[in-house]
Amino acid sequence: MERYDLVVIGSGPAGRRAGVQAAKLGKQVLVVEGRRRVGGVSVHTGTIPSKTLRETVLNLSGWRERGFYGHSYRVKAEIGGDDLGHRLGKTLEHEVNVLEHQFHRNKIRTVSGMARFTGPHEIAIGRADGSDLRVTAERILICVGTVPHRPDTIPFDDLAVVDSDRIVEVPRVPRSLCVIGAGVIGIEYATIFSAMDVPVTLVEPRETFLDFIDREVIDEFVHDLRDRGMIIRTGVAVAKVEKGADGWVTTTLADGRTIRTEMLLYAAGRTGATDALELAKCGLTADHRGRITVDPKTLQTAVPHIYAAGDVIGFPSLASTSMEQGRIAACHAFGLPLPPAPQYFPYGIYAVPEISTVGMNEQEVRARGISYEVGIARFRETSRGHIMGLNTGMMKMLFSLKTRRLLGVHILGEGATELIHIGQAVLNLKGTLDFFIENTFNYPTLAEAYKIAALDAWNRMPK
Ligand SMILES: Cc1cc2nc3c(=O)[nH]c(=O)nc-3n(C[C@H](O)[C@H](O)[C@H](O)COP(=O)(O)OP(=O)(O)OC[C@H]3O[C@@H](n4cnc5c(N)ncnc54)[C@H](O)[C@@H]3O)c2cc1C
Repeated sequence: MERYDLVVIGSGPAGRRAGVQAAKLGKQVLVVEGRRRVGGVSVHTGTIPSKTLRETVLNLSGWRERGFYGHSYRVKAEIGGDDLGHRLGKTLEHEVNVLEHQFHRNKIRTVSGMARFTGPHEIAIGRADGSDLRVTAERILICVGTVPHRPDTIPFDDLAVVDSDRIVEVPRVPRSLCVIGAGVIGIEYATIFSAMDVPVTLVEPRETFLDFIDREVIDEFVHDLRDRGMIIRTGVAVAKVEKGADGWVTTTLADGRTIRTEMLLYAAGRTGATDALELAKCGLTADHRGRITVDPKTLQTAVPHIYAAGDVIGFPSLASTSMEQGRIAACHAFGLPLPPAPQYFPYGIYAVPEISTVGMNEQEVRARGISYEVGIARFRETSRGHIMGLNTGMMKMLFSLKTRRLLGVHILGEGATELIHIGQAVLNLKGTLDFFIENTFNYPTLAEAYKIAALDAWNRMPK
């Protein structure tokens, strides 16, 4: 039996970062990956493909230029599945190559095959030729991620009725699209397809969605989507989904309304990919959604030498936070002291338009009884916004009335996921409104919105 200091199950962002960290500490590391190639959901079906698809659509549709040249402006008149697939293939190949090189450089062994526990320290890896590779490890990290939830009532055929993994495997541009589930993934795809002028209907059983985002930002976002023709049906459940003889899909809502579309994307949740792990053999259990519970500070499970990180432990389920969890788990496993993680991390939603947020939103600030002031800037107030032809986009900042400290930043529009990091730095360094007033910003930039929003709040702050 081969022996390792650390066996990592899953090669997504958490597994990769943990493996590299442990290798840098001089540990013998094995990374086991069920897929043929490393990278995880992040590289093969999640983060990177969806963001590549988005970039392709924004470029080919001429979306970013429409503020100037009008709604009929196009870079390519007809965008087809091949256009989307071309850039996806190239990006994915490049990403995987970089990862394989990173593993190789750090002397991390990778094995392709599904891992399962055979004891608290022992793992069997089922290989393609049917044989098992048996290994033992001092420490084990579970980062198997999630798989799309596929209820039996939805007639998935991976062509007209797809989940969020399948939609990027063979990308198509349907004549119309119904998206079930207004979570981050559903919203991203709904808005990406809508940017290609595909008529999109978004269905969400709950009355509201993206509840962790500031309501004012969501109201503005929903207004943008409706303004460009997207139909949003909230507060109504799906009664049934049927495929007709012509291949089109009819979605019937609980209130009797029907939606007929050429494609349906079911994006209502993901479950932890723990079924194949045989967790009972190492003394662990998963919850009803396949998730594993950990100590959030150390990432240890109930069995102290077994750690879990990434989407399999639940919220926030981001590639960015998964990487950090992987690093923390590896450091803790091998006794490297870690300073406490900064209080706030950014959340990016790559919809069209983008949303990004860090810190508290207005609802949270109110719930905590903090007295606060709000500053708002619109991108069309910035010179950069004029140059870019931006008609939409906003930044909202919240400041404490008592301490003047920044409490949260919420951005909707072009560049939001990049711009947010200025707010993140100021927030985690406990900066105040005065930072934005006193500092000079490059001009013309969208970052100038920070100054405008801060000045807006300053006008109403006690002097
Ligand atoms: C459509 C979509 C868009 C997203 N967009 C973003 C985004 O823009 N930004 C962001 O930060 N996050 C995004 N995410 C989330 C991000 O992809 C995940 O947070 C991240 O991939 C989780 O990383 P992970 O380390 O948990 O492992 P994952 O990336 O989930 O990978 C887990 C790996 O484990 C393997 N595995 C499973 N079981 C076994 C087993 N028994 N043996 C061996 N291997 C196994 C799987 O094959 C898989 O490759 C998106 C997700 C989706 C689905």
